[in-house]
Amino acid sequence: MAEGTGLQVVVIGAGVVGMAAASFLQRDGHRVTVIDPGGPGEGASFGNAGCLNGSSVVPMSMPGMLSSVPRWLLDPEGPLVIRWRYLPVIAPWLWRFIRAGEPAKVEAQARALRSLLAPSVDAYLSLARDAGAADLIHRAGHLWVYQSEASFAKDTAAMELRRRNGVTVDDLGEDELRQMEPSLSRAYRRGRFVAENGHVGNPHRLVKSLAEALVRNGGRVLRERAFGFEFAGGKVSAVRSEGGIHKADRVVVAAGAWSKPFAAALGDKVPLDTERGYHIVLRDPEVVPRMPVSSAEGKFVATPMETGLRMAGTVEFAGLEAPPDWRRARMLLKQARAMFPGLPPEVPEERLSLWMGFRPSLPDSLPVIGPATRHPNAIYAFGHGHVGLACGAMTGRLVADLVAGRPPSVDIAPFRVGRFA
Ligand SMILES: Cc1cc2nc3c(=O)[nH]c(=O)nc-3n(C[C@H](O)[C@H](O)[C@H](O)COP(=O)(O)OP(=O)(O)OC[C@H]3O[C@@H](n4cnc5c(N)ncnc54)[C@H](O)[C@@H]3O)c2cc1C
Repeated sequence: MAEGTGLQVVVIGAGVVGMAAASFLQRDGHRVTVIDPGGPGEGASFGNAGCLNGSSVVPMSMPGMLSSVPRWLLDPEGPLVIRWRYLPVIAPWLWRFIRAGEPAKVEAQARALRSLLAPSVDAYLSLARDAGAADLIHRAGHLWVYQSEASFAKDTAAMELRRRNGVTVDDLGEDELRQMEPSLSRAYRRGRFVAENGHVGNPHRLVKSLAEALVRNGGRVLRERAFGFEFAGGKVSAVRSEGGIHKADRVVVAAGAWSKPFAAALGDKVPLDTERGYHIVLRDPEVVPRMPVSSAEGKFVATPMETGLRMAGTVEFAGLEAPPDWRRARMLLKQARAMFPGLPPEVPEERLSLWMGFRPSLPDSLPVIGPATRHPNAIYAFGHGHVGLACGAMTGRLVADLVAGRPPSVDIAPFRVGRFA
């Protein structure tokens, strides 16, 4: 629908969450302006693993997970790193994270995540079709692979949590695994397959397409840094940015890992931090799996994309300022070679691209979606951590529901900002 006479809405952040929200708001006839200092989809939304996994209901903090942490931290090529200088800053977040892993909380978090994740592929298909990018959305399933019965067994609790939330998980033996993904190394003995899961063939192109469609339909995407608000009569009346003052009837805060100061300016304290992650893309790969494949041992995903084979994952606690440690990206290629023996032992540098991005993470693995406590015409949509791509379209739909005053299609109480008070 073209821009109508609806409300003037300013969205801060042109990541997948902000652009999905902007797209749904425009469909409702609102006049939408999106503000971002970079181009659309150049934040965390650029380089993720592309997974639209309805099955990603397992919070990062799980009972028993702590026992694996020392082993991960001691292994320089392990999935988790803390830059020790950052430890005093992240300590309160880690403390909340550990407490979020209590069994009853995990069950509630998983239920809440499922409500956002289950409709993921369908919600994106609807958005992507309108933006002329439906070719990017695939529903090919997702495969987890294991080298031993022991690591297969270690994942059972997480898989049972998925099943309790309505996800169908197929356990695979060696022969079935081989049939499903012939390019896999013989070292992998067991697998698990979730057919409902999808992936995006190029997350950056998806977000750019949404932005282009928004502009075609009369919306605005401005390359400016937002830095605050103006208030009138207890409401937010405008967003202040490098470009000036943008008057707004409603404001959406969707600045990913950079959202904390905006929430603070609106009077809400949120324990938002970042779990940095890396990717390496191999262009014109010798091996192209049919679907994204997750290594249970290495905790990374290898996803077939239009730009090449992308290996993405790992968690690094180092904040928003520290420079990248590119060894974290390169080790993913080494691990992928062990997974797919058809990948060459040496690859010329020009076939590789490396990336680091900032997951916007809250300690309970749930995003913040809903109105600001004191200024309800400002709506939060940030903190999606490891599942922001998969949750993006549904989050956008919920934001549009809130702006329209429609009852949201899922219960948003678990995502309220007040849960940290
Ligand atoms: C290695 C890795 C793999 C991942 N894999 C997956 C996956 O397979 N599936 C999945 O669902 N999720 C995955 N994720 C997570 C996912 O990428 C994020 O949760 C998601 O991209 C967050 O989207 P966002 O729009 O909130 O944030 P972003 O994409 O970071 O967008 C926030 C935007 O806000 C802008 N901004 C910052 N400051 C300002 C300001 N002052 N004014 C205006 N704008 C501002 C930024 O420039 C940025 O464009 C992965 C993440 C990583 C790092």
